[in-house]
Parts: sequence; C-alpha cells; structure tokens
Amino acid sequence: MNRQKILGSELGLAETLAAERRAARKRKPSRAEAEEAIRTLIRWTGDDPDREGLAGTPERVARAYEEYFAGYHDDPVEILQRTFEEVEGYDEIVLLRDIRFESHCEHHMAPILGRAHIAYLPDRRVVGISKLARLVEVYAKRLQIQEKMTAQIANTIQEVLQPLGVAVMIEASHQCMTTRGIHKPGAALATSRMLGAFRENAATRREFLAMIRSSGNRDD
Ligand SMILES: [Zn+2]
Repeated sequence: MNRQKILGSELGLAETLAAERRAARKRKPSRAEAEEAIRTLIRWTGDDPDREGLAGTPERVARAYEEYFAGYHDDPVEILQRTFEEVEGYDEIVLLRDIRFESHCEHHMAPILGRAHIAYLPDRRVVGISKLARLVEVYAKRLQIQEKMTAQIANTIQEVLQPLGVAVMIEASHQCMTTRGIHKPGAALATSRMLGAFRENAATRREFLAMIRSSGNRDD
C-alpha cells in the first residue's frame, strides 16, 4: 500500500470516529427508556416482564449493555498516544498474540468471541503492550463486523504510531452463525489487514504468520 492510500485510510478513520461520536451525542436515550425497551422485547418474546424472575432483568440487561458497549466512551487514538523511544535500536517485529476479546455483531447484536494478533515493525517508537490490548477492547466493545474491526485496529496503529508496517489478524466465531441461522458451531472467521512492510514484503508477512502459528498450547 502506498503512502497516499495509507493517508486515505487515516482520513477514513478520523471521519468514522467523528461520525460515531456525533451519533452517540445525538440525544442518547435515558436509562429508563432503555429499560422500557427491554421490557418490550421480553413481552415480544412471549414472556411477562412483571413476573418475579424477570422483575430486575431490564435493569440488569441495561447494565450489561453498558459493559458490552463501553468502547464508545473511549478514544482509540488517545490510547496509543504515549510512546517510548528508548528501544536501543530495536527494529524487529513486535507481536502481541492471542488477545482474547468479546464483541457483538452489528447485524444481530449476537456475541463474537475471538482472538486478535497484532504486530508492528517499529520506526524508533514503541507503545506499551497493554495499550495494544486496550485498543482491541475499545473497538471490540462496540457493534461490529469483524472485517471493520480488523481494519480499524490496523489503521489506528498506522496513523498514531507510524511504524514501518502493521499486521492484524483476527480469528473469531460468530454466535449469530453458531447458535442460530445456519447453525455451524466451530466455524471461525479469519480476517487480516497488512500495511506497510507486512503488505509489501512477503518475508515480513511470512514471519508474522509463522510467529502467530507458533502459539504452542492454546487453552481452548
Ligand atoms: Zn450477525
């Protein structure tokens, strides 16, 4: 990808984030309205929101939604703002592998459960590794499609950190596909976005793929 195109995707990122912030500010419904909407959904499923077992459910669901969608309140650009330059000339791939995440698909609001692998080739600056995990969280805790989330993570790192290259791979299972619809448990969707050296240099890309495959024992 040439510099022009990377700049293009940076603009796209800034615009997307600004649009999301505008939408969020556009008269956010009150908590009471959200709970009433959940009562409506309960009635619509055929149950009675006033029976004892369901009495506290609208409130609990609203609170759960605050957690599931906490990412709308965080600024992904700010997370990567603080960098370190004293790296003794380190210029090899930095990889954070197997970052577990939970997200929700924007088509069914069903859970997406997966893991992300993020690598970049630093150009003098590095970020704290926990920041890469936070970046995944911020984008995961929104309504998503996996392809978009993959691109957003890569584009944000490229824009803010300006490394020589970024590689992001996400593997996830989508409950809208495993527990409903076509019912294909075990199917996983893999998406990747490669920028800079990872896109242009086959050896760098191969090194990334080899590094993420050498994960050894996986716990699931
Ligand atoms: Zn879906």
